[in-house]
Amino acid sequence: MSTTLLVTGIHREELGFGDRVADLLDHERVDVLRIPEGISHARPKANELFYYRTRHREIYLQVKQQIGRGYRLLIDLHSGCSATSPCADIYCHDNAMLACLLPEQAAFDQAHTVRLVKIVEQQAGASLSEASMPIAHTWVPRELWDNPAFTYVGLEVYLHDNDAGAPREWRFARELIDHIEACAA
Ligand SMILES: [Zn+2]
Repeated sequence: MSTTLLVTGIHREELGFGDRVADLLDHERVDVLRIPEGISHARPKANELFYYRTRHREIYLQVKQQIGRGYRLLIDLHSGCSATSPCADIYCHDNAMLACLLPEQAAFDQAHTVRLVKIVEQQAGASLSEASMPIAHTWVPRELWDNPAFTYVGLEVYLHDNDAGAPREWRFARELIDHIEACAA
């Protein structure tokens, strides 16, 4: 049974990219959870913020129910847009995972740019300047990104055009997923 779950479509505009990447994966090793009706990745207006955050949390809590089935690794796939595509940000709270990916980051930097970002709690602001890598807060519920039962990795791949992406971008995402999976094993 697969111990890795890849989630696609949390942001509905990114579902097309997620489908293309999912097509390239070995489904003996990675299960895919496709969210058919995710939330928009557009920044919500101030008056929509409460609804948006509630819906965001609901979706992630649904994902967490799926994880209950014994997965050790959750990869939350996203896409963005950048002129320097392909490049990617990898978000994780787990130090062992980040340490394992560090040499990969260097290797990838020959051709692509991979940035590792540590997820921290909102209140951890005091230690910002001491951090050895970029840090970020997230709206993803903490019970997902800081859970002893599984490791959460947010993977944001930047595409040249803001649509489903191109073959080299899908392959780049798959390579990163392979590395993340190897680090979790
Ligand atoms: Zn997204």
